[in-house]
Amino acid sequence: MKGDSTNAGFDTRAIHAGQAFDPSTGAVNVPIYQTSTYAQHAVGKLYGKYEYSRTHNPTRTALEDCIASLEGGAFGLAFASGMAAESTLLQLLKPGDHVVLGDDVYGGTYRLFSKVLTRWGIEFDLVDLTRIEDLGRAYKGNTVLVWLETPSNPWLRSADIALVAAAAHARGALFVVDNTFASPYLQRPLLLGADFVVHSATKYLGGHSDVVLGIIVGKDAKYRDEVAFYQNAAGGVSGPFDSFLVLRGIKTLAVRMKQHGANALAVARYLDAHPKIDRVFYPGLPADPGHSVARKNQLSGGALQGGLPENFDVMQDNAGFGGMVSFLASGGETAARRIVELTQVFTLAESLGGVESLIEHPAAMTHASLAGSGVEVDPALVRLSVGIENIEDLLTDLDQALSAL
Ligand SMILES: *Cc1c(COP(=O)(O)O)cnc(C)c1O
Repeated sequence: MKGDSTNAGFDTRAIHAGQAFDPSTGAVNVPIYQTSTYAQHAVGKLYGKYEYSRTHNPTRTALEDCIASLEGGAFGLAFASGMAAESTLLQLLKPGDHVVLGDDVYGGTYRLFSKVLTRWGIEFDLVDLTRIEDLGRAYKGNTVLVWLETPSNPWLRSADIALVAAAAHARGALFVVDNTFASPYLQRPLLLGADFVVHSATKYLGGHSDVVLGIIVGKDAKYRDEVAFYQNAAGGVSGPFDSFLVLRGIKTLAVRMKQHGANALAVARYLDAHPKIDRVFYPGLPADPGHSVARKNQLSGGALQGGLPENFDVMQDNAGFGGMVSFLASGGETAARRIVELTQVFTLAESLGGVESLIEHPAAMTHASLAGSGVEVDPALVRLSVGIENIEDLLTDLDQALSAL
C-alpha cells in the first residue's frame, strides 16, 4: 500500500497524497515551482502537462490532489482566497437562477450574493437549514443550488448534511457545503451527499495564519473540466508559495484538530459554568442543541444508504468538535466589547483556525456585512478560535478578562 492510496488512513494521506518525491532530485517535499511558464521542445509540444502557471503549476497540483483525497472527491482546485474559490464555483449559475443560502454563513459569502451576484440576475433566500421543513418552503421553480455552512459561523449551529443533500437532490439542485470550520479531518460532506465542498484554507487547512487561499473539491469528475475552465478563465489561482504553505499545513491537520478540539471543549466547559456568561455555543457540549447532528455529520457515514464508501475511514470518537466556540456575555454588547479587549493570550483579530488563539466581536467585525439582512448578529456575542497553546494559560487568560469586567 502506498501512502497516497485511497485505502491509506487520513493522517497518512494528509502527508503523502499528491506528494510523490521529486523524481529529478529525490527531494522529499514537493518544490515551490516558482515559474510562470514552461519550455516546449517543439511548437505546442510540452515536456509534461505544464504550459502556463495560471492553468497549471506543479506545486498547486500537489495541493489540489491532496485535498481531493482528504475530502474523498474526484478533483480539487486551489484559488487565491476562499472568496475566489466561491465566486469561481458560482460561475455554474446563470441569470434567473435561485439559490437557497444557509442563514448563518460567513459574512463574505452573504456579501458575494447580496452585493455582487444579484447584480447579475441571481436570486437568493436565506433559510435556517437546521430546520429541514423550511428548506421545502423556500424552493422556487428556479432553485438550482443549496449552500450550507455547518458548523455555522458565528453561532456554531449544526445542520444534517445527509438530510439537506437528499432534499436538495430531490429538487434536482446542486448542494455545496462550506467545510471550513470542521475541516475534512472531522467531516467529509462529499461522502454524505454534497456535490461540492469549498474551503477557506486560510483557516484550519493552512493552520498558521500565514496564508490566504481557497479550495473547491468536486465529488463528480463530470464537473472537473467546467470548473477548471472557470478557474483558468477568471484566473483567481493560488500562487506556488501559498500552495506550498497550505500543503505543509495540511501535513499536521490531524494532530492540530485533535488539540484544537480538546482545548475548545475545556474552554466551552469553563465558560458554560461562568456566571458572567449567558450561553455557550459549542457542538462538543452534550447539551448543545446541535450536538447529536454534529456527531452524526462526523461519525455516521454508516447511516447512509448503501453503507460506508470504501475510503471513509470513520472518525475516531476522540477527534473532538473543532476549535470554534461562541458565547453571549451576560452584560450585553458593552461586556462583549470589553472582554475581547481584555484578553492577552487570545489576540483580538478576525479570522480563525490558526495555532494561536483569537477572539473577536462578530457583530462589529467579521459579520458587519450582515447589517440590514434581517439576520444581524447579536452584539452580545463573542467568538473564539481556540488555538493549541497550553490549556491552563488559555483558561487563566479568560478568567482574568472576565474578572476585570
Ligand atoms: C474566511 C472564510 C471564508 C472566506 O475565505 P477567505 O480565504 O478569507 O477568502 C469563507 N467561508 C468561511 C466559513 C470562512 O471562515
